[in-house]
Amino acid sequence: MKRVLIKDCRLEGVSECSVFCEDGKVTEISEGSLTVPDGTEVVEANGGALFPGFTDSHCHPFEYGWLKRSIDLRGTTNITGIRLRLQAGIQRAKRGEWVTGMGWDQEAFAGGSMPTRAEIDDISPANPVALSRIDGHIALLNSRAIEALGFAGRVGDEYDRDGAGELTGIVKERVLTEVFARVPRSAERAAADLQSVEAEAARLGLTTLHCIVSPEGFREELEALAALQESGSLSLRYRVYIPPESLDFVDEKGLRERFQGEGVRINGVKIYADGSLGSRTAALREPYSDDPGNIGLLRHTDEELAALVERVDSKGYQAIVHAIGDRAVEQAVDALVRVTGPGNPRRHRIEHASLLPRDLRSRMGKQGIRAAVQPLFITSDTWALDRLGEERVRDLYPIRSMIEEGIVASGSSDCPVESLSPILGVWASMTRGGSVPEESLALEQALSLYTSNAASNGLDESDPHLKEGSPANMTLLDSSTSGMHPALLRKVGVLATVVNGSVVHSYGAP
Ligand SMILES: [Zn+2]
Repeated sequence: MKRVLIKDCRLEGVSECSVFCEDGKVTEISEGSLTVPDGTEVVEANGGALFPGFTDSHCHPFEYGWLKRSIDLRGTTNITGIRLRLQAGIQRAKRGEWVTGMGWDQEAFAGGSMPTRAEIDDISPANPVALSRIDGHIALLNSRAIEALGFAGRVGDEYDRDGAGELTGIVKERVLTEVFARVPRSAERAAADLQSVEAEAARLGLTTLHCIVSPEGFREELEALAALQESGSLSLRYRVYIPPESLDFVDEKGLRERFQGEGVRINGVKIYADGSLGSRTAALREPYSDDPGNIGLLRHTDEELAALVERVDSKGYQAIVHAIGDRAVEQAVDALVRVTGPGNPRRHRIEHASLLPRDLRSRMGKQGIRAAVQPLFITSDTWALDRLGEERVRDLYPIRSMIEEGIVASGSSDCPVESLSPILGVWASMTRGGSVPEESLALEQALSLYTSNAASNGLDESDPHLKEGSPANMTLLDSSTSGMHPALLRKVGVLATVVNGSVVHSYGAP
């Protein structure tokens, strides 16, 4: 039996105490000293703040692990930067092998125009190349990849063409699934990817991940999760969201039953309604301010989306619908209200719900539709004013208003889009980089995004307070947060992370 003592901490940043856990539960909280049995693992908190375990309610750990292995294009500021890193990647690859990378962002380039295949073809004559944008909604292909995929004659908004009608190499949205399905995968590699991300997540104080499984790699990813769970190799908890494409596979393999338990659970299905603002593929009610002919892309008709949501709901799953633009959020709300009764018992969610004017906030609040939000988008989307204009930008990431309307909003990173760090998320939701300061959260609200709200949105125990009998999932910070200036929050470290009564990360541990 695992026994852990957290000595001299501040519960939720305030009251001084020591906390004893046994067999996965908090069994004693005492303001005085505690005598504990021999063999108890003692964590000296020295006044650090102890919280219910932090949860990231929307992340892509397999994709992040894959990114760590492929060419990392984050931080490039021009095509030369992309070319240098791509060239190094091609030198490591075998002739003819697919070369992939991720993380470029044309917003960081002078002029802001998208890269083209003509700019990378000369350095990649023998390898198909697919480089996805930071948000994963757009990719740049070279000519070898277009040939390998047979895209030359394809038409549609997903295939960008230049003035002369030639493919530029930029493809969008669901086409990316087809592209990345061609990249070889294995369950072993997926397992290694997940474990590398898990270690980082534990160091950052996360006890639970709402893990989005990819449409391209669900077989390998689900197999990896099952194998790691069965061998007892996972240290965090996973609430898994699968793509609709995988529903039959999951049934055939009996995966839902195989995952019953505390560690890994298939919660629901992730459905895409639209794209992203950065890629100008998020579906808006009114055109983009910096692209007047464009209102973005809906992935489904109203009927298709409603039918998908209905299928998910009827199978007893939680539906989580990716919707960023206001037109997509409206479509998602319309679809969800058709299946969910008042109170939304299956806790269906909208992921991002980024551009959320008052009418939609109010409908979501009234219908009990939940949301997974990404506070770090607020500080990263420096181009938001250009895309949306002054009036609409006030309704972008209005987290405080959402909470006031009664929407249960949970915090997340959308990693690898943003850092996994929940502390940075708390910081961003409080400071907002100065953007629309009325929407800034107070510390307690900001923390609840990652504690009780995230737990609740993942169908877990969501008591906002740790007490005797609580599950021993806890995050211990290295300082007391009460009264701390929000700007200092980003410097706070994680002293220990406890999952199901086991210390999975602590300072000084090997
Ligand atoms: Zn995502």
